[in-house]
Amino acid sequence: MINTNIATILSKAPEAAYSFSGLYFLVIMGGVILYAISAYRNGKPYTNAIPKSFRNINPAYLKPLTKYFAYYQKLSPANKKIFEKRVQYFIDSKQFISRGSGKITPEMKALIAASAIQLTFGLKDIYLANFKRILVYPDDYYSTIYRRYHKGEVNPKAKLIVLSWRSFLEGYIDPSDSINLGLHEMAHALHLENKIQNEEYGFLDKKQLREFEKLTKRETSKIKNGEESIFRDYVGGNNYEFFAGCVEVFFENPYLFKKEVPDLYFIFTKLLNQDPTVILS
Ligand SMILES: [Zn+2]
Repeated sequence: MINTNIATILSKAPEAAYSFSGLYFLVIMGGVILYAISAYRNGKPYTNAIPKSFRNINPAYLKPLTKYFAYYQKLSPANKKIFEKRVQYFIDSKQFISRGSGKITPEMKALIAASAIQLTFGLKDIYLANFKRILVYPDDYYSTIYRRYHKGEVNPKAKLIVLSWRSFLEGYIDPSDSINLGLHEMAHALHLENKIQNEEYGFLDKKQLREFEKLTKRETSKIKNGEESIFRDYVGGNNYEFFAGCVEVFFENPYLFKKEVPDLYFIFTKLLNQDPTVILS
C-alpha cells in the first residue's frame, strides 16, 4: 500500500505538486513505516519482561513444541525464547494428574502448557494462577453430575482444568476448524481468573470487556435466530461459552473473524494483546 502510493507519486509528471524535499520526506517516511511493520512482523517480543528467574525449557518439552505446535513455529527467535520459558514456568507451577491408566508424558505437559501460553502470550505475568491442577483423561469422560460425556471443563472452586487428551489433540490436528478444546478450556480459565481475587485479578481491560458483552448479545442472538455465523451454535448459550468460542475462532480462523466480525475481532486483539493475523502470517 505504502509502496504503491510512493510509486504513484514518483510517476507523476514534473508539474506534480510535490517538491523534491516533500518527495524525499515521503520516501523516508515510507521506509520508516515499512521498517516498523517488518520489525513488528518479524517478532517484536510480546512480553519481553519475563523475570530473570525463569529457566530455560527442558529439552523434553521443547521437542513437542518444535515438532507439533504451529503457533510456536511461527514466532520469531526472540519470541520463541520467551514462549519456551513461559511454557516451562507454566509446567513448573501446575500439578498434572493422570485420570487413566497411562502416565502424564512430557509431550502432554508441553502441549497443554503451550495452549495456555498461546492464549496468554500477550499478557504479562498471567499464568492462570488459580488453576493449580490439570487433570488429563485419555479420552472423553463420563460426568456423573451432568450424566453425559465431557471433553473438558474448568472448576474454579476445585482449582481444576480437566481435559480429554484425545479431544485436546484433535483440536490441534485440524488447525482451522475453529474447534480447539485446549484453547476453549484455557479461555474459560482466563475469563474466570480475571474475576478471582488473587495476584492475577482484573487484568482484562474493563472497557473492552463491557464492549465484548454488548457484542456478545448481538452475535448470540444471531446464533439463536439461526442466522449465519462464524461461531458454532454451542457457544451461543452465554457470555462464558461465547468468550471461549471467540478464542477458538480468533486463533484458528483469524482472517475470517477479522473480515466477518471486525469490531469483535478488534476487541479480542485488545483483550489478549496480540493479533494472530500478524503472528501467524
Ligand atoms: Zn465451554
